[in-house]
Amino acid sequence: MSHRISEAICDLTGALANLAWPRTCEVCGCALVKGEDVVCLKCYNTMPMVGLHTQEFNLLHQRLAGHLLFERVGSMFWYYRDTPHARLIHHAKYNGRPRIGRILARRYALTLKHDGFFDGIDAIIPIPLSPLKLLRRGYNQSDAIALGLRDVSGINIVHGLATSRYRSTQTRRNAYARWINARNGFKALPDKLRGLSHVLIVDDVLTTGATILAAAEALHSADPTLRLSVFTLAASHLR
Ligand SMILES: [Zn+2]
Repeated sequence: MSHRISEAICDLTGALANLAWPRTCEVCGCALVKGEDVVCLKCYNTMPMVGLHTQEFNLLHQRLAGHLLFERVGSMFWYYRDTPHARLIHHAKYNGRPRIGRILARRYALTLKHDGFFDGIDAIIPIPLSPLKLLRRGYNQSDAIALGLRDVSGINIVHGLATSRYRSTQTRRNAYARWINARNGFKALPDKLRGLSHVLIVDDVLTTGATILAAAEALHSADPTLRLSVFTLAASHLR
Protein backbone atom coordinates (compact mmCIF):
# COMPACT_ATOMS: atom_id res chain seq x y z
CA MET A 1 0.00 0.00 0.00
CA SER A 2 1.42 3.37 -0.94
CA HIS A 3 2.02 6.28 1.40
CA ARG A 4 -0.54 8.17 -0.61
CA ILE A 5 -3.24 5.66 0.36
CA SER A 6 -2.05 5.75 3.98
CA GLU A 7 -2.36 9.56 3.95
CA ALA A 8 -5.77 9.35 2.26
CA ILE A 9 -6.99 7.00 5.00
CA CYS A 10 -5.78 9.49 7.62
CA ASP A 11 -7.74 12.24 5.86
CA LEU A 12 -10.85 10.11 5.40
CA THR A 13 -11.02 8.87 8.99
CA GLY A 14 -10.70 12.50 10.06
CA ALA A 15 -13.64 13.54 7.93
CA LEU A 16 -15.75 10.59 9.09
CA ALA A 17 -14.88 11.17 12.73
CA ASN A 18 -16.50 14.56 12.58
CA LEU A 19 -19.66 13.27 10.95
CA ALA A 20 -20.51 9.84 12.20
CA TRP A 21 -18.91 9.01 15.50
CA PRO A 22 -19.79 10.42 18.88
CA ARG A 23 -17.05 12.82 19.84
CA THR A 24 -15.56 11.69 23.11
CA CYS A 25 -12.25 12.34 24.83
CA GLU A 26 -9.74 9.60 23.94
CA VAL A 27 -8.33 9.76 27.47
CA CYS A 28 -11.28 9.96 29.87
CA GLY A 29 -14.21 9.13 27.56
CA CYS A 30 -16.28 12.21 28.43
CA ALA A 31 -18.22 13.96 25.65
CA LEU A 32 -16.23 16.67 23.91
CA VAL A 33 -17.65 20.15 23.68
CA LYS A 34 -17.30 22.61 20.82
CA GLY A 35 -13.69 23.62 20.30
CA GLU A 36 -12.33 20.38 21.82
CA ASP A 37 -10.88 17.69 19.58
CA VAL A 38 -9.57 14.21 20.47
CA VAL A 39 -8.77 15.24 24.07
CA CYS A 40 -10.93 17.28 26.45
CA LEU A 41 -9.50 20.44 27.99
CA LYS A 42 -9.09 18.81 31.40
CA CYS A 43 -7.09 15.87 30.02
CA TYR A 44 -5.05 18.21 27.82
CA ASN A 45 -4.14 20.32 30.82
CA THR A 46 -3.08 17.27 32.84
CA MET A 47 -1.04 15.75 30.00
CA PRO A 48 2.54 15.14 31.20
CA MET A 49 4.27 17.43 28.70
CA VAL A 50 7.95 16.95 27.86
CA GLY A 51 8.74 20.54 26.83
CA LEU A 52 12.48 19.99 26.31
CA HIS A 53 12.65 20.92 22.61
CA THR A 54 14.33 24.29 23.18
CA GLN A 55 17.21 22.79 25.18
CA GLU A 56 20.38 22.10 23.24
CA PHE A 57 21.46 18.77 24.73
CA ASN A 58 18.42 17.53 26.55
CA LEU A 59 17.40 14.20 28.08
CA LEU A 60 16.12 13.01 24.72
CA HIS A 61 19.39 13.88 22.98
CA GLN A 62 21.14 11.80 25.62
CA ARG A 63 19.00 8.82 24.71
CA LEU A 64 20.21 9.18 21.12
CA ALA A 65 23.82 9.86 22.02
CA GLY A 66 26.36 8.11 19.88
CA HIS A 67 28.41 8.96 16.84
CA LEU A 68 25.61 10.86 15.12
CA LEU A 69 24.83 14.45 15.95
CA PHE A 70 21.19 15.43 16.34
CA GLU A 71 20.36 19.10 16.21
CA ARG A 72 16.91 19.38 17.76
CA VAL A 73 15.07 16.63 19.57
CA GLY A 74 11.53 17.17 20.81
CA SER A 75 8.62 15.16 22.11
CA MET A 76 5.12 16.17 23.12
CA PHE A 77 4.32 14.11 26.23
CA TRP A 78 5.80 11.48 28.52
CA TYR A 79 4.44 8.01 28.01
CA TYR A 80 3.89 6.18 31.27
CA ARG A 81 2.51 2.66 30.80
CA ASP A 82 -0.96 1.93 32.16
CA THR A 83 -1.89 5.58 32.63
CA PRO A 84 -4.92 7.21 31.00
CA HIS A 85 -2.80 9.31 28.62
CA ALA A 86 -1.00 6.18 27.35
CA ARG A 87 -4.31 5.27 25.68
CA LEU A 88 -3.68 8.02 23.15
CA ILE A 89 -0.67 6.18 21.77
CA HIS A 90 -2.38 2.81 21.88
CA HIS A 91 -5.48 4.05 20.05
CA ALA A 92 -3.42 5.97 17.50
CA LYS A 93 -1.18 3.01 16.79
CA TYR A 94 -3.38 -0.06 16.92
CA ASN A 95 -7.03 0.89 17.14
CA GLY A 96 -7.52 2.42 13.73
CA ARG A 97 -7.50 6.05 14.83
CA PRO A 98 -4.59 7.77 13.09
CA ARG A 99 -6.47 11.03 13.47
CA ILE A 100 -5.39 11.15 17.13
CA GLY A 101 -1.76 11.45 16.07
CA ARG A 102 -2.49 14.11 13.51
CA ILE A 103 -4.60 16.31 15.79
CA LEU A 104 -2.18 16.11 18.74
CA ALA A 105 0.83 16.77 16.51
CA ARG A 106 -0.97 19.70 14.87
CA ARG A 107 -1.73 21.14 18.27
CA TYR A 108 1.80 20.78 19.60
CA ALA A 109 3.28 22.03 16.33
CA LEU A 110 1.95 25.50 17.24
CA THR A 111 4.26 25.50 20.27
CA LEU A 112 7.15 24.07 18.26
CA LYS A 113 6.69 26.69 15.56
CA HIS A 114 6.55 29.49 18.09
CA ASP A 115 9.83 28.25 19.60
CA GLY A 116 11.63 28.08 16.23
CA PHE A 117 11.88 24.27 16.28
CA PHE A 118 11.07 24.05 12.55
CA ASP A 119 13.45 26.82 11.44
CA GLY A 120 15.66 25.69 8.55
CA ILE A 121 14.12 22.19 8.36
CA ASP A 122 13.26 21.38 4.74
CA ALA A 123 11.59 17.96 5.00
CA ILE A 124 9.64 15.80 7.44
CA ILE A 125 10.56 12.12 7.15
CA PRO A 126 8.19 9.69 8.90
CA ILE A 127 9.59 6.35 10.11
CA PRO A 128 8.12 3.81 7.68
CA LEU A 129 6.25 0.63 8.56
CA SER A 130 7.05 -2.63 6.84
CA PRO A 131 4.68 -3.29 3.91
CA LEU A 132 3.16 -6.19 5.83
CA LYS A 133 2.31 -4.05 8.86
CA LEU A 134 1.04 -1.24 6.65
CA LEU A 135 -1.30 -3.71 4.98
CA ARG A 136 -2.48 -5.09 8.32
CA ARG A 137 -3.07 -1.71 10.01
CA GLY A 138 -4.10 0.25 6.96
CA TYR A 139 -2.09 3.30 7.94
CA ASN A 140 1.22 4.36 9.42
CA GLN A 141 0.79 6.37 12.63
CA SER A 142 4.05 8.22 11.90
CA ASP A 143 2.52 9.45 8.62
CA ALA A 144 -0.41 10.83 10.61
CA ILE A 145 1.90 12.64 13.04
CA ALA A 146 3.91 13.99 10.10
CA LEU A 147 0.69 15.31 8.55
CA GLY A 148 -0.14 17.18 11.76
CA LEU A 149 3.30 18.81 11.77
CA ARG A 150 2.99 19.69 8.09
CA ASP A 151 -0.44 21.26 8.65
CA VAL A 152 1.15 23.91 10.87
CA SER A 153 4.74 24.20 9.61
CA GLY A 154 4.03 23.89 5.88
CA ILE A 155 7.15 21.70 5.56
CA ASN A 156 6.87 18.93 2.96
CA ILE A 157 6.66 15.28 3.96
CA VAL A 158 9.30 13.23 2.14
CA HIS A 159 9.17 9.44 2.28
CA GLY A 160 12.94 9.17 2.22
CA LEU A 161 13.15 5.89 4.13
CA ALA A 162 11.95 2.36 3.47
CA THR A 163 12.15 -0.74 5.62
CA SER A 164 14.93 -2.94 4.36
CA ARG A 165 13.65 -6.23 5.68
CA TYR A 166 10.89 -7.54 7.88
CA ARG A 167 11.15 -5.99 11.32
CA SER A 168 9.46 -8.05 14.00
CA THR A 169 7.62 -6.13 16.69
CA GLN A 170 9.71 -3.98 19.03
CA THR A 171 7.46 -4.35 22.07
CA ARG A 172 8.47 -6.86 24.76
CA ARG A 173 12.17 -6.72 23.93
CA ASN A 174 14.97 -5.40 26.06
CA ALA A 175 17.07 -2.44 24.94
CA TYR A 176 19.84 -4.51 23.41
CA ALA A 177 17.48 -6.81 21.53
CA ARG A 178 15.60 -3.76 20.26
CA TRP A 179 18.81 -2.21 19.03
CA ILE A 180 19.89 -5.38 17.21
CA ASN A 181 16.43 -5.74 15.73
CA ALA A 182 16.19 -2.15 14.55
CA ARG A 183 19.75 -1.91 13.30
CA ASN A 184 19.94 -1.99 9.53
CA GLY A 185 16.15 -2.13 9.51
CA PHE A 186 15.92 0.87 7.17
CA LYS A 187 17.31 1.98 3.89
CA ALA A 188 17.43 5.56 2.69
CA LEU A 189 16.08 6.45 -0.75
CA PRO A 190 18.76 8.82 -2.12
CA ASP A 191 16.55 10.12 -4.96
CA LYS A 192 14.08 11.46 -2.42
CA LEU A 193 16.80 13.12 -0.33
CA ARG A 194 18.35 15.09 -3.15
CA GLY A 195 18.57 18.80 -2.38
CA LEU A 196 17.64 18.43 1.29
CA SER A 197 19.88 19.85 3.99
CA HIS A 198 18.04 19.42 7.31
CA VAL A 199 15.37 16.78 7.92
CA LEU A 200 13.02 16.06 10.81
CA ILE A 201 12.65 12.34 11.54
CA VAL A 202 9.20 11.61 12.98
CA ASP A 203 8.00 8.63 15.01
CA ASP A 204 5.24 7.94 17.53
CA VAL A 205 7.19 7.00 20.66
CA LEU A 206 10.83 7.46 21.60
CA THR A 207 11.75 4.54 23.85
CA THR A 208 15.39 3.45 23.81
CA GLY A 209 16.03 5.45 20.64
CA ALA A 210 16.97 2.31 18.68
CA THR A 211 14.47 2.90 15.88
CA ILE A 212 15.39 6.57 15.44
CA LEU A 213 19.11 5.73 15.49
CA ALA A 214 18.69 3.06 12.82
CA ALA A 215 16.73 5.48 10.63
CA ALA A 216 19.27 8.25 11.21
CA GLU A 217 22.15 5.95 10.35
CA ALA A 218 20.50 5.00 7.08
CA LEU A 219 19.96 8.68 6.20
CA HIS A 220 23.49 9.58 7.27
CA SER A 221 25.08 6.88 5.15
CA ALA A 222 23.10 8.06 2.12
CA ASP A 223 24.13 11.68 2.72
CA PRO A 224 26.68 12.43 5.47
CA THR A 225 26.05 16.19 5.15
CA LEU A 226 22.36 15.85 6.04
CA ARG A 227 21.48 17.60 9.32
CA LEU A 228 19.13 15.56 11.52
CA SER A 229 16.43 16.53 13.99
CA VAL A 230 13.81 14.37 15.66
CA PHE A 231 10.22 14.69 16.83
CA THR A 232 8.18 11.96 18.49
CA LEU A 233 4.65 12.35 19.78
CA ALA A 234 5.59 10.69 23.06
CA ALA A 235 8.72 9.65 24.92
CA SER A 236 8.62 6.72 27.30
CA HIS A 237 9.73 7.57 30.79
CA LEU A 238 12.76 5.41 31.57
CA ARG A 239 13.51 4.68 35.18
ZN1 LIG B 1 -10.74 13.84 28.95
